Amino acid sequence: MRDENCIFCKIANGEIPSATIYEDDDFRVILDLGPATKGHALILPKEHAADIYSIDEELAGKAFKLAKKITTRLKDVLGCDGYNIVQNNGEVAGQTVFHFHMHLIPRYKNDKSGF
Ligand code: 5GP
Ligand code: ZN
Repeated sequence: MRDENCIFCKIANGEIPSATIYEDDDFRVILDLGPATKGHALILPKEHAADIYSIDEELAGKAFKLAKKITTRLKDVLGCDGYNIVQNNGEVAGQTVFHFHMHLIPRYKNDKSGF
């Protein structure tokens, strides 16, 4: 199900163009518009769910498997030294877009990222 007012629904389903690095039936993985570090990517499910509480359990599992696949491939491509996987729920936790997403944030020695 899509939410007509949700920007990540539109991006995930290709209605708004994005820098896509991976796509399958369930997900689109894009580069973040305001990257914390070089190669900061977001996993977006194509089906709308606001957060961890409302996302389908099986889909949440698939998202984590995909996070493993993407970070394992990209660490060698980017030459990063580590990875943060971040997923915010609720305004006080830093969530600004209320469509479930996972941040994949490559870390480099001395990158000084706030994450
Ligand atoms: P949150 O703060 O909700 O966990 O993360 C939202 C993320 O989405 C932020 O890192 C922000 O830079 C990114 N973002 C917001 N709008 C857009 C957009 O239209 N396109 C892309 N690629 N990233 C976006
Ligand atoms: Zn949505």
